[in-house]
Order: sequence, then structure tokens, then C-alpha cells
Amino acid sequence: MIDNSPLFISLPFIILAFMLGIFMGRRKAEKKQTPVSYSLTSDYFKGLNYLLNEQTDKAINVFAGMLEVGEETVDTHIALGNLYRQRGEVEQAIKIHQNVIAKPSLSLSRRNDALFELARDFMHAGLLDRAENLFQELLKKQSHVQNALKYLLSIYQQEHDWDEAIYIAKKLEAASNISYSRQVAHFYCELALISQKSGNFKEALLQVKKALGTDKQSVRASILEGNLNKDLGNCKAATRAYRRVEQQDPMLLSEVLEPLVQCYKELKKSKEIKSFLEHSLKKYGGITSVLLYSEQIRYESGDKAAALFVVETLRKKPSIRGLSYLIEISLDFTKGTAHDNLLILQEITNNLLKDKPIYQCDQCGFKAKTMYWQCPGCKSWSSVKPIQGIEGE
Ligand SMILES: [Zn+2]
Repeated sequence: MIDNSPLFISLPFIILAFMLGIFMGRRKAEKKQTPVSYSLTSDYFKGLNYLLNEQTDKAINVFAGMLEVGEETVDTHIALGNLYRQRGEVEQAIKIHQNVIAKPSLSLSRRNDALFELARDFMHAGLLDRAENLFQELLKKQSHVQNALKYLLSIYQQEHDWDEAIYIAKKLEAASNISYSRQVAHFYCELALISQKSGNFKEALLQVKKALGTDKQSVRASILEGNLNKDLGNCKAATRAYRRVEQQDPMLLSEVLEPLVQCYKELKKSKEIKSFLEHSLKKYGGITSVLLYSEQIRYESGDKAAALFVVETLRKKPSIRGLSYLIEISLDFTKGTAHDNLLILQEITNNLLKDKPIYQCDQCGFKAKTMYWQCPGCKSWSSVKPIQGIEGE
């Protein structure tokens, strides 16, 4: 099978570029009547020999050693370094790019090009501190600004340095004219979580306010605001924050239904619980609303009435979670063989639900059992949503 990936296509080109560079260098030397050393010819044929024997790596090494870094050949050296990085040989890439930077005769612009690639090498090798220093150096020199900012944003996210991430994202927004408000709102939410963990609820609420000020559609900020107020015993403010999610993203309404019901219970507003769940059922019909509503029926009218409601709902929209709940409440009012059969069914549905992902990233398809605000697969923010259908919401 022919591999058409750019990596494999670029190998012969790099070798060709080196051979051309050496040939040009030799012509120059001949014009100046400079003697061409025997070792150059010997190395040249050694390289060719490697090439003929399909030992491309060894051939590149020989040709690279023969070609001096200069203004005419710097592109070839940088490209070779990049090629090594793409092949996962980062040490070699670093060596080549450092060799380019070490040449004092190189113009500032070409030196910056090599500096940028070296920073990428460090990033690839996981040496984030060293990559950060070089990208910051490029920013000071006003070179490769947008790309340096993008890499710095990625570094600060990986290091969980949210203050720096906010600072860089705002700079990137100004430099690129692209909105980073969604990401920045998440960074404020991360800061709010840190404050919440240290018991500083006032500071946490302040960060949440900043998140909503940056992105008023931030579901995460509303959920955090609801949770913080709920923990502070301010259920009225919590319900306001949770209810906001419906306008922000109805797909995530299922995330707040349970705490919302708890808050209404605290406020002794059972009427509001029923009317909001009825509204949610009618408009969106997710299984979380079905189960919470049937719990209300169970509380008011008993197990049989709740089971009847669930059966009717499952006929219209089948759900494994719904079936599991139906079996659980039915166990309370069945006896003998019917009860034993239900226990078997319960085991089957539990096994079906066990380890089943209920969230999925709409960008890369990553599946998870818990909610992630940043996808662990593709690192996108706000891309993980509850899975819809029989196995999900
Ligand atoms: Zn993803």
C-alpha cells in the first residue's frame, strides 16, 4: 500500500533539497576556485549509498552534516527539524533547530523562525517551561505573535494557570479578532472552583459573575452559581441560577433538574416542582424529567401510580434508565415468581447500564460516564453533552 501522508512525501523532498544545497555550495566553491575537500565527495557518495539502500534516516544525517547553515539553506534545516519532530524524534529536532539558532550570521527574522520551531519541539517533548520561555521571547520580539499566543494559551491551560490563560486569551482575541469569550468564561469558572474548594464562597461568586459577564450563555457559570448559593443556604438565588440553564442550552437542562427540585423542596414549593417538571417533560421530554416527575407521583399517590406513569412514558419513548427505575418501584408491590423474575430483569438492566457512557463530545466523539466541561479527547470547551436516545437522556 502506498502511504500518501505528507510525512512520507516530504522525505524525498528534504533529501533532494539537501543534495541541491550541497551542489550549489560546490558550484560556488568552484567559482571562487576554493578547493573542494575529498571528505565532501566521500560523504556525498556515502549519503547516496544510504539512499540507494533505502536507509533514508542515515542519508539525511550525512547530507545534513555536509550542508552549512546559511540564509539559503536555513529553510531546509528548519524543515528537516520539523520532519524529525513529526516522526517523534524530538531530540534530533531540538538539536537541528538549536544548531540553526547558534549561527551568528543569520538574520533576526530567520533566527525567530528557528526559535519558533524549537519552542514547538519543547512543547512536543512536554518541556512546557522551556517552550513557554521561548514563546514569551517571540512575543517580546513581536514575531509569530498569533501562533505564540495560541501555544501559550494551551500551555497555561495544561498547567492550570487560569489567570495567565485569561490574560493570554484576551491578547489573542485582540490579535486575531476571534472571540475567546467561551473559553475565558470557563477559566473564570476554574478560578471559582478553586475559591469554592478553599471555602471562599464570596470570591467564588465573584468569579462566576465575571464568567457570566464574559459569556452570558455560560451554562457552567449558572450551575456553579446555583451550587454555591445552594451550599450557602440561599435556595431562592440558586433556583434563579439553575432556571437560567434552560435559556442557555436546553440540552444541559438535565444537569440541573435534581438540584433544582431539591431547592424547591427546601423552599417548600411543591407546586413549582410539578409545574416545572411538567413544562420540561412537555418541551424536552428527557428521562431525567420523567424519573423526577414519577418520584413526585410516588410521593403523592404511591408506587403503583408512579409505575403506571413510567409505563405510559416508556411506550412513547423507550429508555433503559426508565426501565430500571420501573423495575425498582415494581419490586415493592410484587410477590412470588413475578418478584423473582423482576430481580433477574433488574440484574440485566443494571448490567446494561454499567459502564455505559452517558455523555459524548460533539467535536471528537469522546464518550464518558461523567460530565466534562473540557473534552479530555480534543480539549474543546463546552463540547461534551448528554447522549440522547434509549441508552442516554
Ligand atoms: Zn472532544
